[in-house]
Amino acid sequence: MDRDKIISLMREAGIVGAGGAGFPTYVKAGSKAEVVIANGAECEPLTHVDKELIMAHAPLIVAGMQAIMDSTGAARGVIGIKGKYTKAIDAMRQAIGDEPRITIFELGNFYPAGDEQVLVYDVLGKVVPEAGLPIDVGAVVQNIETLYNIGLALSGAPVTDKYITVIGDVPHPMTVKVPIGITLRQVLALAGGARPAQPTILNGGAMMGRVVDSLDEPVTKTTKILLVLPYEHQLSVKRRRTRQDIELHAIASCDQCYMCTDYCPRHAQGHAIQPHKLILLLASGVAVTDAQMAGALLCCECRTCNYACPVHLSPGDIALTIKRDLVKARADNPYHRQTEVDPYRDYRRVPMNRLISRLDLARYDVPAALTPVAAAFDRVTINLKQHIGAPCQPTVAVGDRVTVGDVIGRTPEQALGVPVHASINGVVRQVTAAHIVIEANERG
Ligand code: SF4
Ligand code: SF4
Repeated sequence: MDRDKIISLMREAGIVGAGGAGFPTYVKAGSKAEVVIANGAECEPLTHVDKELIMAHAPLIVAGMQAIMDSTGAARGVIGIKGKYTKAIDAMRQAIGDEPRITIFELGNFYPAGDEQVLVYDVLGKVVPEAGLPIDVGAVVQNIETLYNIGLALSGAPVTDKYITVIGDVPHPMTVKVPIGITLRQVLALAGGARPAQPTILNGGAMMGRVVDSLDEPVTKTTKILLVLPYEHQLSVKRRRTRQDIELHAIASCDQCYMCTDYCPRHAQGHAIQPHKLILLLASGVAVTDAQMAGALLCCECRTCNYACPVHLSPGDIALTIKRDLVKARADNPYHRQTEVDPYRDYRRVPMNRLISRLDLARYDVPAALTPVAAAFDRVTINLKQHIGAPCQPTVAVGDRVTVGDVIGRTPEQALGVPVHASINGVVRQVTAAHIVIEANERG
């Protein structure tokens, strides 16, 4: 298919990175690359979406891969899947068939195997420069669900549904496909609801997820895992701590042992991020927006350093809050070096089973098979900003009748962004600057 046609189909279908911050895929698809890497690392502990999707829809994922290889001009496609997922690898091999350009790369079972810079180095042996992107070394990285969505877009189908793993302290852990815009409460109910009377729910998982404030939040294009934990679980307790509490603890207890920095995957790429140094600076009274803190801008927010700290401090939370402050203050990033990996990089990887055990999640490390959803949903709230870039502006009004796949909001033509679509058949009941509510009598 023609390159411009592929890019336009991706944009019109509303495709964004399904596993991260929601970067519009058409932009990556318009770059010139040597290789496309499919990120099937299933990076967050207890996530099952990638593996389940591969087993259910490998041919569509390969079609998506071929399309983005065509649009970027990439001669090679590499599908990264953890070696332990033998059934998914078999399904993918079968789907690849005799396509000579695409191969499978078996990833190790460590965290964060899916960090795109870690993945690029593992697959290609190339280091992405500080503050750089995979494209700086000729690579485009795409999440498995994003490739699946590209596969669907080739036949004109937009993004209206999301695959989500619901796991942790629930009666029936599972992976489900649900319409975008239903509430997190409804997703949770599919797995039997939270067992604890007062649960903590991490939207995004144990390492990079955030605590859910309200179960009335709608599912978006980037929702991937809901991890349900008892209120008193160590992760719940840690995540509820205030920033001031986290920083005071670190200042009082950090012995500058350097373990957090040793285990930081971005530091292992040679990048100038050193979480132990940020704590030292805080202890010295240096302002968080001071230029000496600028290394925090290179933090990928993986929280691997929290795992590494022998006295259970949260250097990762400190690094990521300082980073966000620096970004907000539009601080200058002086680090743009092409670096080399630390020679001990491979010895400092965090085995996934050790991480799960250290986080006290072993009891929740169970299968979460893709399970058909019989429930019908009669109301969705579609957020107008589910991607990086400009928010969508509504293209429908209260009272309009819509069907699944209709465009209901668009970004201005020249702005970065993608449209949003109706995920159920029904009538538009509310339009605000932030969202559109659709109510239905029946699920389309
Ligand atoms: S969260 Fe910690 S380990 Fe991860 S990149 Fe930031 S400083 Fe490094
Ligand atoms: S690992 Fe913990 S104690 Fe050691 S330097 Fe880092 S924050 Fe401080």
